[in-house]
Amino acid sequence: MSASAEQSPLTVAIIGAGPSGIYAAEALSQQSEVAVQIAVIDRLPVPFGLVRYGVAPDHPSIRSIRHTLERTLEKSGVRFFGDVTIGRDLSIAELRDTVDAVIYAYGAGSAKPLGIPGEELFGSMAAPEFVAWYCGHPDVHPDIDLVRPPAIVEVLITEASQAVVVGAGNVALDVVRVLIKSSSELADTDMADEVLDSLAGKRVNDVHLLMRRGPAYTAFTTKELRELGQIEDLDIILDPATLDLDPSSQAVADLDKITARNLVVLREWATRAPTGASRRLHLHFWTKPTRILGEGEGDQARVRGVETERTAIVADGSVSGTGEMNAVPAQLVVRSVGYHGVAMPGVPFDESTGRVPHADGRVIRDGGFSVDEYATGWIKRGPTGVIGTNKSDAVETVTSMLTDIAAGALVAHSRVGALDRLLAERGIHPLDMPAWHRIDAAEIERGLSHGRLRTTLAHRSDLLAAAGDDRP
Ligand code: NAP
Repeated sequence: MSASAEQSPLTVAIIGAGPSGIYAAEALSQQSEVAVQIAVIDRLPVPFGLVRYGVAPDHPSIRSIRHTLERTLEKSGVRFFGDVTIGRDLSIAELRDTVDAVIYAYGAGSAKPLGIPGEELFGSMAAPEFVAWYCGHPDVHPDIDLVRPPAIVEVLITEASQAVVVGAGNVALDVVRVLIKSSSELADTDMADEVLDSLAGKRVNDVHLLMRRGPAYTAFTTKELRELGQIEDLDIILDPATLDLDPSSQAVADLDKITARNLVVLREWATRAPTGASRRLHLHFWTKPTRILGEGEGDQARVRGVETERTAIVADGSVSGTGEMNAVPAQLVVRSVGYHGVAMPGVPFDESTGRVPHADGRVIRDGGFSVDEYATGWIKRGPTGVIGTNKSDAVETVTSMLTDIAAGALVAHSRVGALDRLLAERGIHPLDMPAWHRIDAAEIERGLSHGRLRTTLAHRSDLLAAAGDDRP
């Protein structure tokens, strides 16, 4: 390494301003071994990724992690580059030419398919789309002047009285709560006005949760599960016999504290007598969907229910169908069976895992380590864990980077300012943290103007206007 290279800060671009990207910026800015300049880039005009667009609006304490993430983006040596799309505004190769290292932190952007007939019917949607809708994501709240059909969820939610949610994870619980709660129960959240307005027209009063395995094999955390039992005017209906544990389920419950706690919650629910509540949650363990049933022809075809098959555990803990078929009536089906990573042009990607191939965060390209590419978060480890899991994940990746710097494999090339120059040459004006603060103030003002603490601006045009940006 030359003397001038030693003095020049290492320039790092992090793609994705969600928790994983910002935790990587935090880990980099907290170390003192090497001077760094960090650009946290996001295609959206606002930072915070899944903390803003994934965490359920009725979980304000988790959403408040935003304030910690915000402080990292305000640190000296860290800058937010909002509304810059890699692959459109500049390619990965161009980005790698302007900075010393890139960290991929762009999450897992698609839904895992169920792989059953009828999945494409009108009325069937993937949880990530439903979540994006109720969180006010601009991708599913298009600007009016872009002449796109209204989000199907707005139509569905006002028409369906029975809904099926498939999956036994925390996202399924989020979806269930939003389907069950009334708009007045959600009014103290930061949900976008148009989302609350649509929810006010909601007719859903029966939600069926289909879980392909038994109560010992769910991916729920206890706090989130328990929350369902605290919703007023809701009867939770489950067959107590499904809580009888076979030996393998019992072994899981004996070993795993969360499973044991979840079982306590479920068993208490099973003792509750129906109260005649106006809303019902039906829990179906050992039940897998085999077909989404439709009615009507061609474009008019829409969901009328879900055909299900009872399952039983097999030796390796997986399940197989027993041949015992049933059907659940529903006009809305939300498939919540996990997220899947998406390939970014120019970035190594393993389609089978939905992840960027790596070892300890070092990206593997063409069979070897790429000296300037790293990964963190869901695109690195898959869509697992809670928000905080991304912190230790980012530390692992940054530790690999620092090791590579110390070994002389990753070096600074005096590239300070190169990214700004390239974007300026292209006429691209990233939104920075002052722009975010203007959006933040506008959301608070919009909320206060009708008695709420804050209202998410769901449309890109509104976000840009609030940022003081007059681009189309
Ligand atoms: P998840 O935790 O991986 O759960 C996915 C669920 O889908 C599992 O129960 C899985 O069952 C089921 N599933 C998968 N394929 C299926 C199929 N073909 N048919 C039927 N069921 C199927 O995923 P997630 O709920 O999307 O959550 C993603 C991550 O975000 C998780 O780590 C979660 O904890 C986290 N998260 C946390 C919170 C919170 O802390 N409040 C809120 C939301 C999300 P099997 O086990 O049988 O495969």
